[in-house]
Amino acid sequence: MNIIENLPSLAAEIDKAEDIVLVGHVNPDGDSIGSLMGMKGFLEAAGKRAVAIVPNNYPDFLSFLDPGKDVMMYSDNPAEIEELVAGAHLIICMDFNSLKRIDQLGGVIAQAECGKILIDHHPGPDQIFNLIYSYPELSSTCELVYWILEELSRMMGTRIPLSSSIALYTGMMTDTNNFANSVLPSTFIMAGRLMEAGVDKEWVQKMVLGGYSEERMRLMGYMLSQNMKIIPEYNAAVMVLSKEIKEKFNFADGDSEGFVNLALNIRSVKVSALFTEGDEFIRVSLRSKGDFSVNRLSRGFFNGGGHERAAGGRLFMPIAKVEEYFVKSLGDFIEQEKQAHLL
Ligand code: 5GP
Ligand code: MN
Repeated sequence: MNIIENLPSLAAEIDKAEDIVLVGHVNPDGDSIGSLMGMKGFLEAAGKRAVAIVPNNYPDFLSFLDPGKDVMMYSDNPAEIEELVAGAHLIICMDFNSLKRIDQLGGVIAQAECGKILIDHHPGPDQIFNLIYSYPELSSTCELVYWILEELSRMMGTRIPLSSSIALYTGMMTDTNNFANSVLPSTFIMAGRLMEAGVDKEWVQKMVLGGYSEERMRLMGYMLSQNMKIIPEYNAAVMVLSKEIKEKFNFADGDSEGFVNLALNIRSVKVSALFTEGDEFIRVSLRSKGDFSVNRLSRGFFNGGGHERAAGGRLFMPIAKVEEYFVKSLGDFIEQEKQAHLL
């Protein structure tokens, strides 16, 4: 696979730097933690000091990728992270396309004086980076990082450690919803190479899918049987996870990860939404199948964006109003799309 251009520039930047800061997005998912730990392992194997930082905590089921608890959270440790960023020789941002996606950490990164590199698969990256590796056609940032590391490995004479291979396989697997979405021939080739490199795919499956807490499992059952509503006229499904429900199920960060995909298993459902009430805003998660662009839906109505079939955003309104707003927005959006001949 030879799609990644301009890798000598990246190799040169890495070569010059001793302290490298790797940055992941808010509410880190498998692709975020996978790309961070994959890159961190490789850079350390190349003799660099690399730290991975994220705005807030990741779901518990991903902790097997971070056995030493090395990923640092800005929410826990702002002063220490500000110092690390200020002292860094190079910053590599992965799996997000805009500093807005890292909350307050965005201002800290913006102020850093060292070179900044973006490695990502979301369309429309911010133009504030010195080097941009943006490949929206790839399954996941982890796939992109794999193809980059394969080449860097040759150029730098550094082997990709097994821990990195496991992390990259995991992020690709979770971002494609277990090989269901956005999978291309290159994705299978990557998976095959990683298996040859020693990744035990059944073990990874067990860690990801068998790593649920009892609370998460019960919450999932409750959301599907009691909370999910189907809106037949728009082929849509919606779940609203309020603070009240969170308390009832002793909610921990990441417990609702993947719920938004579940409703798409219903034959008639083409678009699925999950709204999660937080302290400052309502987190929006959108998924679709077919030609329905949740990226445009989110940009237009939910203060966000993302991919065509997986997007997210934020709402600022009482949780009780969200379902009504969703139904109205869908109606308006579908009308707009039809007029533009996009649906
Ligand atoms: P999730 O539903 O898993 O939180 O997010 C799905 C995708 O939507 C992410 O990969 C990301 O690309 C995008 N996304 C989520 N939240 C936001 C947001 O607030 N703003 C933008 N621009 N994209 C988001
Ligand atoms: Mn991703």
